[in-house]
Amino acid sequence: MFIDEYISGVAPVRGKILLVDDQVVNIKILHQLLQNDYDIYMARDGHQAIDMCKKVNPDLVLLDIEMPILNGFDVCAHLKKDATTRDIAVIFISGHFDEDKEVKGFTLGAVDFIHKPINPIITKARIKNQLTLKSQSDLLRSIALFDGLTGVANRRKFEQTLPVSWLQCSREQQPLTIILLDIDFFKLFNDTYGHTEGDTCLKRVAQQIQDTVNRPYDLVARFGGEEFICILPNTDLLGGTYVAQQIVDSIVSLKITHETSKVSQYVTLSAGVATIVPARHISEKVLIEAADKQLYLAKERGRNRVLGAQVLTEDSVPS
Ligand SMILES: [Mg+2]
Repeated sequence: MFIDEYISGVAPVRGKILLVDDQVVNIKILHQLLQNDYDIYMARDGHQAIDMCKKVNPDLVLLDIEMPILNGFDVCAHLKKDATTRDIAVIFISGHFDEDKEVKGFTLGAVDFIHKPINPIITKARIKNQLTLKSQSDLLRSIALFDGLTGVANRRKFEQTLPVSWLQCSREQQPLTIILLDIDFFKLFNDTYGHTEGDTCLKRVAQQIQDTVNRPYDLVARFGGEEFICILPNTDLLGGTYVAQQIVDSIVSLKITHETSKVSQYVTLSAGVATIVPARHISEKVLIEAADKQLYLAKERGRNRVLGAQVLTEDSVPS
């Protein structure tokens, strides 16, 4: 996924707001006020509110403070503790102005307070401001996960994604494949054509890899200078090697001239593929090291080629 697709994915078309209040009449008032501009969800108590936050991931929660069992402060503290709900903006709704309560609310991570009885214009304006801020910070967070030059994911995004794919494949007992790719003789390319041409080459190679690896759960990331890495969940060694070969072939067909390359007149890639059926107790490093070793061998055996290996674990060897 490139950053422009990603941005259009995060920019909310219509904000999602969760209304939380133990009094139905209060929910009704807010619902009527906001339903034309936002997608509205509702919860009647704290536990329901937390469940809804996990399920629908709203942009904003309008949270009543006074509720039985789990009050608004408890709910807010809970949301801010959990990485999956931490970024949801919380506005407290309170019965009357109370400085101590406001201090506590802001300390817990709330972004604003609204007092009952609510003033429709002020309430709407405050919500709109908070949603604008929220979408801007979502955007910044997403930009921080993409490589500025090539537009593909960066190493940080790779490091966030690999454990997720690992866990998922481990649960389903499915193979997980990674492909490590390196541009052959890239230093010589830069020496010959200069760094601006080098950057253009990196962009075209990244684009080509991204075009080839395009299933929804696959990831292409820039791993280092002229190294790229792909995560292919639910893919065995045969499938991963096939994709890697497609990438390597498609780079040659771009015909980016490289006169000082020792393998071709064009820019080429070498690829190392590694596959594992992951288990929780095995470190992800094992897979990266295996791909790195295959890449090294691919270089040693003449470059512009793909080599791959299955990582065997205790679990995959019958005893
Ligand atoms: Mg209440």
